[in-house]
Amino acid sequence: MKPIILVIFDGLGDRPIKELGYMTPLEAAVTPDLDKLAELGITGMLHTIERGVRPGSDVAHLALFGYNPKFYYAGRGPYEASGYGIDLMEGDIAFRGNLGTVDDNFIVVDRRAGRIESSDAFAEKINGLEIDGIKVIAKAGLNHRIAVVLRGQGLSEKITDVDPHVVNKPLKKCLAKFDGDDKAKFTAKVVNKLIDKAHMIFKSHPINKERAKKNLPLANCLLLRGAGRMAKYESFQEKYNLRSACIAGAGLYKGIAKIVGMEIIDVEGANGKANTNVVGKINKAIEMVKVYDFVFVHIKATDSLAEDGKALEKRDFITRADKALFPLIPLVEKREIILAVTGDHSTASDLKIHTADELPILIAGFGVRTDRVKSFGERSCQSGGIGHMEGAEDLMDMLINLRGDTKLYGN
Ligand code: ZN
Repeated sequence: MKPIILVIFDGLGDRPIKELGYMTPLEAAVTPDLDKLAELGITGMLHTIERGVRPGSDVAHLALFGYNPKFYYAGRGPYEASGYGIDLMEGDIAFRGNLGTVDDNFIVVDRRAGRIESSDAFAEKINGLEIDGIKVIAKAGLNHRIAVVLRGQGLSEKITDVDPHVVNKPLKKCLAKFDGDDKAKFTAKVVNKLIDKAHMIFKSHPINKERAKKNLPLANCLLLRGAGRMAKYESFQEKYNLRSACIAGAGLYKGIAKIVGMEIIDVEGANGKANTNVVGKINKAIEMVKVYDFVFVHIKATDSLAEDGKALEKRDFITRADKALFPLIPLVEKREIILAVTGDHSTASDLKIHTADELPILIAGFGVRTDRVKSFGERSCQSGGIGHMEGAEDLMDMLINLRGDTKLYGN
């Protein structure tokens, strides 16, 4: 059966932008390769969740992979922790976090501890702690970032953040979100003990003694947020009979992919930024479909640039990324692969936020019936043969159907 490549440009869709003559960045970009793929394939418009819903990248990717976020999504923490390389178990409560700086009165004066070079030494100090029978697992991310997991019985994710999210505010006490929720109360108690313990351990850490001498902000507190419960996920292999792989730069996407059982494939220079190695990512995907049935390629910069209000740079990034897609065209023409290109949501460069606007999608290659659309854009794809997809949850089933591997409904 033919392999599938799914290319997701994060925050691909956008709005007509004044500086671009009221074209969107995708419409204004020079995209002969995306246009050719649209011509060779079938196109349409997609709401990853549903009309009027502004999706976060986490829930949007769950939907794109066919995992109903209403059922599976229970907070961001697990995806981040998984992306940092922690192997999660069902029932774990995971947090994303920062090393921050508090003063003597526990006022947060720096949420990133001066963007400290590494959190490794601090994560090691709290990793393996046991508090009231609950095991603490901690792993460092880049710079000040740190993921923390609580493992044990009687835990709940229905608790508040410790991180005040702004500076010059006191560190918050973790609380149960609802009165009478004993599991959440217990979890909050464990979190508060962990925060106190981490403060005691961190403040006397040799790295902080060095930082104090250099007048750098101390990494003396653990700012946790985004508590989430690890659910039980059917793997891609179990759900779709697909050996799957992920090529992504940013941690969140690797985390989600790993949770659904994809192998994480590293590509040099794939960093989730605007100077990422798109050519390397696409070439690696082409190489990987010899081994895997499904390869997910994630490209982040379209979203980040729009969130920074950089519509022209988003346009230029799409122009550059388009060239990287060129080697996919012969594979599509020879019907050797099934290719889908879309995004996880729109990100409006003028508003600098994710929006609920639908975004274009194209599917090309083996088994695909074409339509009359010959360019890939927010307006051109409105008349495509896929029509308007209400939710991305159908997407995987559509791709599996093209492969010819869908179970029969009925008899
Ligand atoms: Zn996104």
